Amino acid sequence: MAKQVERQLIVFDFDWSLADQDSDRWVFEVLAPDIRRKMKNTKEEYEWTDLVAQGLRELHERGITREDIEGALRIMPFHPAMIRAVKAMKTAAKPQTTFLCLSSANNVYISTILESKGLQDLFTEIVTNRAEWDPSGLLKVRRHLDPNGPQHNCPVGCNPNICKGQELEAFLKRHGTDYDRIIYVGDGSNDFCPAVKLRSQDMVLCRKYRSLEHRITQEGKKAGLVCQVRYWAGAWEAEENFRQLPNVVETS
Ligand SMILES: [Mg+2]
Ligand SMILES: [Zn+2]
Repeated sequence: MAKQVERQLIVFDFDWSLADQDSDRWVFEVLAPDIRRKMKNTKEEYEWTDLVAQGLRELHERGITREDIEGALRIMPFHPAMIRAVKAMKTAAKPQTTFLCLSSANNVYISTILESKGLQDLFTEIVTNRAEWDPSGLLKVRRHLDPNGPQHNCPVGCNPNICKGQELEAFLKRHGTDYDRIIYVGDGSNDFCPAVKLRSQDMVLCRKYRSLEHRITQEGKKAGLVCQVRYWAGAWEAEENFRQLPNVVETS
């Protein structure tokens, strides 16, 4: 018999999870595919967020404007079923749902895209890399975790810019709320660490055919993954998963 769920937390990765593309790569695919190619060829040598920051400096030197970048973000693929799904969860009569975003993109990309979809009020917090426009129209991006400060030293092997597992724990501590259920929606290798921290009443909605699925299959047991796992490929299937969650009463 499932326990009542009064309060739940839904955690979303952004790229390929809430959004149907990778924003870091998309901007260059739209505006400068040669830079995109260079990033792909050199990504083993540099930290990814640093590489994005460098690519954005090159865009700026070419005269590509803030409006060009915002325009590219607004046309990035975003599935209507995902918009429907999160709005239905947000407005459901029960349970009361809090949304958190944990992402390796950046706050400017994410807020620009959310605004264009009418989802600017979805998240209680967005924890991601730091970005700001300077007056000349350059988008300056920095790692969430300053490379000159203390590092996360995560044993699961998270990228240097952010450990989503530690960020999830910090969020739970900050809010001091006992969530009856946590649902984590993710696709990437760096979504594995927070998944391992979930309890047996929690659930990962894992996008199929991507790194998170492989890590869950290959390392899940060994790493002590105890939460439930459901898989989806298209956003319409993620929506289906949300609808089938026990203890959800939708507003009519
Ligand atoms: Mg992702
Ligand atoms: Zn980690």
